[in-house]
Formats: sequence, C-alpha cells, structure tokens
Amino acid sequence: MPHSLLQNQRQFFNIGTTKDVDFRIAQLKALRQAIQAHESEILTALKADLHKSTGEAYLSELLVLKEIDYALKHIRQWAKPLRISTPLEQLPGRSRIYPEPLGVVLIMGAWNYPFQLMMAPLVGAIAAGNCAILKPSEIAPHTSRVVADVISKTFDPQYVTVMEGGAEVSQALLEEKFDHILFTGSAAIGKLVMAAAAKHLTPVTLELGGKSPCIVDRDIHLEHTARRIIWGKFLNAGQTCVAPDYLLVQKNVKADLIQAMQIVIREFYGDDPSQCEDYVRIISDRHFERLVQFLGDGRVVIGGDKNPSDRYLAPTVMDQVPLDAALMQEEIFGPILPVVEYEDLEEAIALINARPKPLALYIFSRSQQIQNRILKETSSGGAAINDTVMQFGVSALPFGGVGDSGIGQYHGKASFDTFSHYKSVLYKPFWLDIKLRYAPYKGKLGLLKKIIGW
Ligand code: NAD
Repeated sequence: MPHSLLQNQRQFFNIGTTKDVDFRIAQLKALRQAIQAHESEILTALKADLHKSTGEAYLSELLVLKEIDYALKHIRQWAKPLRISTPLEQLPGRSRIYPEPLGVVLIMGAWNYPFQLMMAPLVGAIAAGNCAILKPSEIAPHTSRVVADVISKTFDPQYVTVMEGGAEVSQALLEEKFDHILFTGSAAIGKLVMAAAAKHLTPVTLELGGKSPCIVDRDIHLEHTARRIIWGKFLNAGQTCVAPDYLLVQKNVKADLIQAMQIVIREFYGDDPSQCEDYVRIISDRHFERLVQFLGDGRVVIGGDKNPSDRYLAPTVMDQVPLDAALMQEEIFGPILPVVEYEDLEEAIALINARPKPLALYIFSRSQQIQNRILKETSSGGAAINDTVMQFGVSALPFGGVGDSGIGQYHGKASFDTFSHYKSVLYKPFWLDIKLRYAPYKGKLGLLKKIIGW
C-alpha cells in the first residue's frame, strides 16, 4: 500500500505540476480554506482527544493559518533563483542558485499538537513544491481522522495524502525511499526513523524533545514571570515539547515565586482546575500512570490532585526533587513543575551543560548581562527571554533542536529550505576560452599561484 501510494506520487511529481509557483500558491490557499471550513470538526476532535479548549486550540493548533499566510506572502521571493557573484578569474560567466523541490516527502507527527504538527510541516512541503504523505499519531485518533478527512477532501492523493495507523504503518512507510522525512516525536523513535532513512540515504529533519530548563534570576517582575511560566508549563497540561520542563530559581526569589505561581494557577484555572474548561487532560492511561509515578520524587507544594477516570492531573509544582530522580532525568511532558534552587548562576549553567542539549531554554531576568551570559554559555535549540513557548509562534524564527533535541529546523523560510534542494549552477558562454587552466602548465605557474593567492 505505501509503495503504490509513493509510486503514484512520484509519477505525479515527475509531471512537473508542483514546480509551478502559482500551483503551490493555489494549494496553500485551498488548505487554508479547508481548515477554516472544517473548524468545528477540528475543534471537536481536539476536545475528544485531549479535552483541549477552543481557546487553546486557536492559540496552538489553528495558529497554523499564520504559517500559511506567511508562506503565501513570501513564497515568490523564496522560489526565485539567487544571483551570486562570480570570481574574476571565472569571467566571463554567471552564477545562480535555484531552489528546487525534493520530490515526495514523509511527515510523521506526535500526538500532543496533533493537528498543527501535521499541517505546519505540510505548509513548507507544499510551498517548496513537493508531494507529501502524512502519518499522524494514532494516540490522538480523533484528530488523526480529521486530518485525513481535511486532506482527502482538499488534495488528490497523488499530490498529498494521509496514512493513518500506528507503529506498523510508520514502519511500512519507512521501508520506502522518500526524498525527505520530517519526524516529530521522541528521541527513541527518532533514532529508528534515522536508521531506516539511512538505508535509502534519505535526509531527515528530527523534531524531538528533552528537558527545557527555565532559569529565574532575582531581578524580575515577579507577577509577569509567574504568569508566563505557568501559562507555558500548563498549556496542553504540560504536554508541550517546548514547555519549561523544570525551574532553576535563584534561592532568594524561590519562596516568592512559588507563592506567585500559586496565585496565578488559581487565576487561570480556578479553585478546582478539574472543573475548568480550559484545562487539558493527559492523553492516555499509560501516559497518566507514568506521570503519577513522578509525584513520589519530591515534595508537592502546589496541586498533586488526580483523577484516573478522566486522566486529570492538577497543575503541580514540586520542591526538593533530587537531581538523580526520574522527574529530573526524563522529559516530564505533563503538568508537573519541579523547582530547583541555585545560589550562583554558575551552578545553574553547569547543571544545564551537564545534560543533553535542550530544545528550548528560558531566562527570566532584567539583567542583560545575565541574559547574554546564559545564552553564550549554554546551547539549546532555541530560547526565549522573559517568556516561554511564544518563540514557537514567530514564523520568521527557525524552529528546531540541537544535539539530542533534534536535527534541522522548520517554520517560515526554514520550512521552505528544509523541503528544497539549492542547486548551484555556473553558466559559461562560448565566446572566450582562456587557456591558463589547461595543460601544459609550464610557464603558467607564477600566474596560477597569484590567482589562488599563494
Ligand atoms: P513518539 O516518538 O512515540 O511517536 C511519534 C510518531 O512515531 C507517531 O506518529 C508514531 O505513530 C510513530 N511511531 C511510534 N512507534 C514507532 C516505531 N516503533 N517505529 C516507527 N514509528 C513509530 O512520540 P510521541 O509520544 O507522539 O510524542 C512525544 C515526544 O515528541 C516528546 O519527546 C516531545 O518532546 C516530542 N515532540 C517534539 C516536538 C518538536 O516540535 N520538537 C513537538 C511535539 C512533540
């Protein structure tokens, strides 16, 4: 089945239709229209899978419309050949770089933003002129169905199509030779994807996760800091790849920050977050059980309530968590926020650098010197200063990891680049043929040395 789908797409790609920029623009507009037309089905599916509220769905899933608009605004510019200067010794001649589509690409997604993580990469794949097969996560089955439905009603399967299913479907797809694979998910599966891709020399973009630290200095606006941390952590009940995973808080501000966060949690989700429309549930029983285990790793200072029957886990803050506890070793990916204190910034930086490079890093401080020092002395996929998660929404900022948190980037122009090959071309006319480069070289060495700058 994947084989014939791929063959059909390859045949269609070879006709050349997708190379036409007007065609790509029309498809992006069709996608935009289809998403808007299916708004209520998308919202219902997200509610069914994750208890995601309409507000959160717009903020974090339907936000993909902004990616489409950004691509529509810039696509003609991106698709233009680039003029490059040609060195004097190569004249007469001119140099150009042509962006060309890769061919047929595979987009595999995670369950936490099950709509957005399919559509945002697709925008790039279409803008760059590719055909695409999408494989949504089976763990969010309602959204997977809606993605398949929206795509099948909008595109011919020989251009863009969806294959639903679990690991066995992914594995069958990975047997095939694609021209690029963009995978969003865990590092463990990312390694399998990369190994399968290597057999075909297929390039990959791996959008993975990790433990994104959030450093809080003494010199902050306490209320704004608390609000921005709590929002980024408990959005989607912490099931966000760029959520602040744990806090590194300067000792003197810790008690005040915990108190401020408690106030903000009540402000956002009320006295009983289980009754709040805007509070998301854990995706599955298996994921719920995993998170509940973490509650034993330290002292719960806020929250901790749970209800397995609807996979509710309250916004929870924990203190006194040993650094070697599972909660401080594994990516949490749920509504539990450990608070680790530090005295000197050096300690916080050393702790971050002793661990795999994270997808995001957050710094709360008024001091530019501290901001710059942390940015300079640590490495992370991206970062935000005095905010969390919002960097994801800036289309012009390439999004991706480094080291264990991923390979490659997308969003905006970076998506176009990810799904394009930049073909370098040198043009030469016939009217002049300088013989300096041809043998015999006797008598030419002095000039050759001069040209290469010996
Ligand atoms: P996952 O790795 O379990 O699944 C991702 C995809 O891989 C799914 O489509 C799944 O069907 C497929 N898959 C599962 N088992 C497979 C196998 N054996 N062989 C081939 N394919 C297989 O990840 P998840 O649980 O859906 O997502 C959570 C992880 O994703 C977290 O680590 C999170 O940080 C990360 N994430 C990263 C980003 C990002 O943009 N960087 C975004 C969201 C989530």
